[in-house]
Amino acid sequence: MTKPSFWKNNKRYYDLKSYWRNLFGCNVHKLAIDAGFTCPNRDGHVATGGCIYCDGRGSTLRQHGELPSIADQIASGKKYYKPSASKFIAYFQTFTNTYAPVAGLQALYDDALAQEDIIGLSTGTRPDCLGSDVIELLSGYAKKHHIWIELGLQSIHDKTLQLINRGHNFQQFLDAVTALSGRGLNICVHIIIGLPGESDEDVLKTAKTLAALPIQGIKIHSLLALDGTPMGELYKNGSIPMISKEKYVALTADVLEVLPPEMVIQRLTADGYRDIFLAPVWAGNKLDVLNSINKELERRDSYQGKNYLVVPEKVTFF
Ligand code: SF4
Repeated sequence: MTKPSFWKNNKRYYDLKSYWRNLFGCNVHKLAIDAGFTCPNRDGHVATGGCIYCDGRGSTLRQHGELPSIADQIASGKKYYKPSASKFIAYFQTFTNTYAPVAGLQALYDDALAQEDIIGLSTGTRPDCLGSDVIELLSGYAKKHHIWIELGLQSIHDKTLQLINRGHNFQQFLDAVTALSGRGLNICVHIIIGLPGESDEDVLKTAKTLAALPIQGIKIHSLLALDGTPMGELYKNGSIPMISKEKYVALTADVLEVLPPEMVIQRLTADGYRDIFLAPVWAGNKLDVLNSINKELERRDSYQGKNYLVVPEKVTFF
């Protein structure tokens, strides 16, 4: 297999910008929105304290006081990105963006979609927060708009999900994917490399499992230790080692190699708020991380999908 020509980019993976340019013929940008949601894994509905790496602060906007309206958040995002993009996706990013009665969700999403040049939604949520009424609402939008559902998963391994206090298991994720698929919705899954107790094989098993599911996109980043989080404490007292840059780059390349060539790579790095960022220090230089992943793939003469194996129709995961 050679590098797919449909990517129409000079990268070794199918990045989101290229995907959108192919789909819409123009540059599209995501505008992050904080709609004031909370999270059931923080408020006691599922658990308290949240995932061990979650800082619980929400967006910078939220930290500065009352949230502006959806329309105002979109307008200021558009002003910032207008020179480089002509169409936009409203990205409901902060906390769990389906965690409200469906009528309230509809009002928020309708408001976003009514703004000029907004061609779709990307909604970040948890696998246990997608009731049938919410899925019905989202799939209704998908008839006219470009819709992504971003599902936090991080790992397919229940022992890890328990350790990081995700508050859901892998089966709940599979149930959510089953309920969402075949309805015109795009699914993007978030995973973390460098989770405590995970071997290289564990990470690859997560990637291969996702490769076999009806998932259209993925976001990958390294585990971060932020001050004020349980993970930050574990890092400070030396209980959890952080992944090295070399290891992260090599494992990310391994993961990309086993994903299908048409899966959209939405992110390969993350940092965190500078004032609480503890480790790993190298993750603060996103450009260097991206360059290093590219160089590693070049060194291997490899690219996304090179080791992707089309699996038989019926897959047994365990
Ligand atoms: S699900 Fe997301 S918002 Fe909720 S605790 Fe975990 S990381 Fe934080």
